[in-house]
Amino acid sequence: MDASHRSADTAMDFEGVRIAGKPDQSRWNIHCENGLVGTLTEHESTNDSQADPRLLCPSLCHPHIHLDKCFLLSHPRYADLEIQKGDFQEALSLTNEAKSRFTHEDLMERGRALIEESIGFGVTHMRAFVEVDAVVQLKCLDAGVALKEEFKQRCYVQICVFAQDPIFSYDDKGIQMQGLLRQAVDRPGVEAFGSTPYVEKSKENQSRNIQWTLELALERQLHVDFHMDYNLDPKTDVYTLLALKAAKTLEWPKDRCSKQFRTIVFGHCTRLSLFTKAQWQSLRQEIADLPVSFVGLPTSDIFMMGRPDKEAGGSERVRGTLQVVQMIGEYGLNAAMGINNVGNAFTPQGSCDPLALACLGVGIYQAGTKAEAEILLQCVSTRAKSAIGLGSPDLELQAGQSADFVVFGNATSTESFRRRNSTKDLVYDAGHERVTVFRGRKVSQ
Ligand SMILES: [Zn+2]
Repeated sequence: MDASHRSADTAMDFEGVRIAGKPDQSRWNIHCENGLVGTLTEHESTNDSQADPRLLCPSLCHPHIHLDKCFLLSHPRYADLEIQKGDFQEALSLTNEAKSRFTHEDLMERGRALIEESIGFGVTHMRAFVEVDAVVQLKCLDAGVALKEEFKQRCYVQICVFAQDPIFSYDDKGIQMQGLLRQAVDRPGVEAFGSTPYVEKSKENQSRNIQWTLELALERQLHVDFHMDYNLDPKTDVYTLLALKAAKTLEWPKDRCSKQFRTIVFGHCTRLSLFTKAQWQSLRQEIADLPVSFVGLPTSDIFMMGRPDKEAGGSERVRGTLQVVQMIGEYGLNAAMGINNVGNAFTPQGSCDPLALACLGVGIYQAGTKAEAEILLQCVSTRAKSAIGLGSPDLELQAGQSADFVVFGNATSTESFRRRNSTKDLVYDAGHERVTVFRGRKVSQ
């Protein structure tokens, strides 16, 4: 047990730690009590040996993760479902086959592994997508709600009922989908509802999907989360704009302080990466004060997109992903980054570590400066939490906040130039020495 724990359940103190988002040379004393940051004061001592050499940053958040279809590629139950081609169609059919075999125990085992590994990396909050459709019915939701309860002392799991299948594009199944989804969103513990308009078979049904999803979310007071505009075709309509118009017409609540406040999230949205500056500005105007956030899913986007046909001989491998750092910096939008899938045919590669995603962001967004590192850290912590309706996007740790953070480094380690001292150290290469604190208690194993 580390020395800073006075009493694991009631209080936790740090003396002279560094804090991400504060000036590099400053050191801080923090006292946490009853799950909150009680006091936060600057550490005055000039004697460095008395200061705690560790670095604190806000805890991490998955704004978008599929709890039910994780680790299909490593679980023996699905060993026969190997990737042969690696394209979207195959991912869909392998995953559909896997879904037909889901059992409660299996969903619990894989979901538990995902949450446990995430906590180990510093995650204390997540929006977990659970699918509802004619095949799995409410099985994934049952497991999701059970896992939310199982982990409630260690991680906040926000359940998002998710329609991966069309809601309108086939007759009898469509009607069944609507009934199942209505049943699902009424389950205690469900806080968000999401759909995938682009799987509908016509433009008209895409629009109906969007309208129906927004109406149901509004009626049941749920956050709404769309998998949207997942293409790189300049000729396609931009459904994000259509959804914004529909939200406005429905008078979606905007007041952050009201009890009805819920957020609207758009994930993927690779089509928007083709926007001109004028189109971005007009999108910004269209959003106005609606509580909209975008979630970039770069690990999935770059794996799934831009597969050339054989004739092209390896060229024409165009890929795109939301340019989240620029969206924040230039257009004042809220954007975050999500892992989306872990260990399945949609995204075979990568771990549950949101900082690995921030690290990828340095390369993919060509965002290497100190200021950009701060934004990238926000994208996997405070901005991600804000997207799912929790708190402000600022990195700033303040007294009165929930004591949710990650402690990097070792309290007893000696001075080394490789010690992580700043936000950019974490984003370039976070290292593995981490302790996760949720509501003032150490929660990682
Ligand atoms: Zn997704």
